[in-house]
Amino acid sequence: MTPTRSFFTPLQSGRVRPAATGSRSNITVSSPFSFTLISSEGAARLGEFRTPHGVVQTPAFMPVGTQGSVKAMRHGDLEALGAEIILGNTYHLFLRPGDDLIARRGGLHRFIGWKRPLLTDSGGFQVFSLAERRVISEEGARFRSHHDGSLHMLTPERVTDIQAQLGADIAMVFDECLAYPSERDAAAASMRRSVRWAQRCRDRMMQLRGAGLDGVTVSNTGQAQFGIVQGGVFQDLRTESVAATVAIGFEGYAIGGLSVGEPTDLMYEVVAATAGRLPATAPRYLMGTGTPEDLVQCVARGIDMFDCVMPTRNARNGQLFTSEGRINIKNARYAEDDRPLDEACDCYTCRTHSRAYLRHLFMAGEMTAGTLNTLHNLSFYLDTMRRIRHAIAFNTFEKFRQEFLRSATRLLSDS
Ligand SMILES: [Zn+2]
Repeated sequence: MTPTRSFFTPLQSGRVRPAATGSRSNITVSSPFSFTLISSEGAARLGEFRTPHGVVQTPAFMPVGTQGSVKAMRHGDLEALGAEIILGNTYHLFLRPGDDLIARRGGLHRFIGWKRPLLTDSGGFQVFSLAERRVISEEGARFRSHHDGSLHMLTPERVTDIQAQLGADIAMVFDECLAYPSERDAAAASMRRSVRWAQRCRDRMMQLRGAGLDGVTVSNTGQAQFGIVQGGVFQDLRTESVAATVAIGFEGYAIGGLSVGEPTDLMYEVVAATAGRLPATAPRYLMGTGTPEDLVQCVARGIDMFDCVMPTRNARNGQLFTSEGRINIKNARYAEDDRPLDEACDCYTCRTHSRAYLRHLFMAGEMTAGTLNTLHNLSFYLDTMRRIRHAIAFNTFEKFRQEFLRSATRLLSDS
C-alpha cells in the first residue's frame, strides 16, 4: 500500500524531495533530506547534505556520542570545534534510559540539548559483539543486556521504531555484522539476511512516514534512513549487496563490516570497489573507521562520511594525533617539554597548555586530562576533514593526500 503521507521520495538527481501531496492531505513539507555533490577530484567528492537540523559539509567526520554524550566533551566544545553532526548509539540508549523516556522528552535532540544534526546507528554492531549473550534468527537478535542480564529482542521493525522515537536526522537499518575472518558461505548468507532485514526496515519506515503506528512516537518527521552494504571482503558479495540495497532505495548508503581486523590494504580495496558502485547521487558512509590516514585514503576512494571512537578513546588513553605524527603523552620525554602538543593546531589545548602540563595531568589521573586531550584529538580530526574539503574544492586533494601520508602518520613516540 502506498503511504498517504510520504514526506519524501528519492529522485534520480539524488535530491530527496517531498512526495506530491495526495488527495487526502494538502500539507506541504519542505525537503528534509537532500544531498548535493559540489565537486570532485578523482573519486574524492565534496558535497553537503541537508537535514531538519541543518547542513553537513562532506566529507564529514562524526564524533561518537554513544550515550548521548561525546565522552569528556560539552556540546558547546563540539560546536566550537565545528562538529556539524554527532552519532548516538541505539543499543545503549534503548537499554538506558530507554527510547520511550527519550520520546516523552521530545526526542534525542531535545533530551540531550544538541541542536545540530544527529545520526543513530542501529545497534547491530553492539548486539553482535555480545557473542555468547545473543542468539540470531531470521526474526532478529535476542540478547541479554550488558547492564543487568535482562532479555531483549531486537528486530528490524523494532530497531526502526526505536530510532523513530529517538528522532535522529539519520537512522540506520538493522544489519547482521560478521566477524573477520569469515568463510565465503557464511558471509553470503549473512549479507542476504541483512538485505532481507533492510527491506523490513524500509517497509517499517514507510509505514511510520505514512499512517504511523500505534505506540510509536515519530520524534523527527524528516528522519532519513540509510541502507548498509555487507559482504565481508568478498567483492562479488559486496556487488550483490550494493545492487539489492540500492534496489530497496534509501536516502544514503553505508559500507558496514569493515575495520574489523582485515588488513588495511584489503579494506581500501573493498571500499574503492564498493563506493564506486554506489549511486553518485547519495551520501556514502564508511562505518566505524578509522585512523587519520584511513579518512584521507577512503575519501580518495569515494567516501563522504565517517565515524570512529578512535580520536576520543585514544585521547583518554593519552594517545594524541598531531600534524607531525602520533604522540603518547605518557612518555617521559614530554616531562619537561614546554611546546604545545601540535604547533600547527589552534585548539584551546594547544593554545593554552604545554606537553609537560598535559603529561602531568595524565599521570596524576586528572579528569581534565581526558577533556583537554579529547578536545585536541577531535580538533585534529575535524581540521583534517576541513583541509580535505578545501583541497577537493581547489583540486589539490591528491597533493594534500601525499603530504598528509608523509607527515601525520609517523609515530613520534612509541612507549
Ligand atoms: Zn590542538
